[in-house]
Amino acid sequence: MNAKEIFEIESKYTSGLYTKQPIIFVRGQGASLWDIDDVEYLDCASGHGVANLGHAHPKVAAALAEQSTKLITLFESFYNDQRAALMQKMGTLVPGLERVFFCNSGTESVEAAIKFARISTGRPGIVAAMRAFHGRTMGSLSATYNKKYREGFEPLVPGYSHVPYNNIEALDKAITSQTAAFLLEVVQGEGGVYVADPAYVQAARRICDERGALLIVDEVQSGFGRTGKMFAIMHTGVTPDILCCAKSLAGGVPMGAVLIGPAVKNLVPGVHGSTFGGNPLSGAAAVAAITAIQEEDLAGQAAEKGVYLKEKLQEINSPLIREVRGQGLMIGIELKQKVQPYLKALQERHILALNAGLTTIRLLPPLVITKVQLDHLVKVLAEVLATEAPSSAE
Ligand SMILES: *Cc1c(COP(=O)(O)O)cnc(C)c1O
Repeated sequence: MNAKEIFEIESKYTSGLYTKQPIIFVRGQGASLWDIDDVEYLDCASGHGVANLGHAHPKVAAALAEQSTKLITLFESFYNDQRAALMQKMGTLVPGLERVFFCNSGTESVEAAIKFARISTGRPGIVAAMRAFHGRTMGSLSATYNKKYREGFEPLVPGYSHVPYNNIEALDKAITSQTAAFLLEVVQGEGGVYVADPAYVQAARRICDERGALLIVDEVQSGFGRTGKMFAIMHTGVTPDILCCAKSLAGGVPMGAVLIGPAVKNLVPGVHGSTFGGNPLSGAAAVAAITAIQEEDLAGQAAEKGVYLKEKLQEINSPLIREVRGQGLMIGIELKQKVQPYLKALQERHILALNAGLTTIRLLPPLVITKVQLDHLVKVLAEVLATEAPSSAE
């Protein structure tokens, strides 16, 4: 298939749900992607935070190849070596969260967490934060804040409310004897790259304990080394009752998981489940991915590279930049104007980045990105942000 045919076919048969860029990517390695004409791009989007290990990680590729010849699918009503290995790994990642439920995506992990909170407490209320993004299926969409995602789909699930982020007083008022859980992104991703104050998360823990509500953290984007620790909650000293993860969990293979603490009750057969959840193929990929994150100390790398990148970004002398913020390699550059033209200018210079809301450029590079690549990113960003109306390349 040539490029023209690929564009035509996808344009004809697509659902229409995606704003598509006219580039055809066919392979990747580390933080680089190559298009069909073998032009190299620097990937600072990682598929929205999926490719923390970089593209085509050899250990993940080998695990997939090997497992695919042995056993691809097996429902969790039977035992399996890969699932056991993964459970053992995940059950020891966050002290206090020993049990795990497997699913296939971020939104599914949030759906499961919400059901677990309601069945544990017998209460309906879910409190989430303003600007929050938790997914697009009805339960997690009801916790997602932005009207852009919600409009047209009402009525959403009852029992949800939203509080301002990092505001202890508002949270104290919102959590009541009817609250099943407070659901929080430890670093808000889609909402603009905002980091929770440790004092806020600690207060949330105390308030939830006082009122008998559960604390759920959504680490779908912030997890697996992204912020400089295995999970962002580890910057706060708090143990949540439930932790949702997905995106980078299985090195790019679709998988979600919910880590479960002792306050979660009533999880008995039939209460919840997933056909594909914990299948041996995704399981083998996840074992390889988490092992690689640990062996290569990708969290440590993200911490170090994040400090370096943030410093360099703060040195960019552009009147357009309002603020640079974030944690590890989850970084937002808030501009005084809309970011879309700047993302386009970056793309024309072969760098892929994301927005977070209308005015923030979001950088989520693979954690294996090199110093040379980081320096290149900063140089190009400085060029692009030097002018009010970014020009096309060449
Ligand atoms: C991406 C994301 C989700 C949804 O994940 P999907 O796999 O797209 O369903 C949920 N929560 C957060 C914080 C995310 O970044």
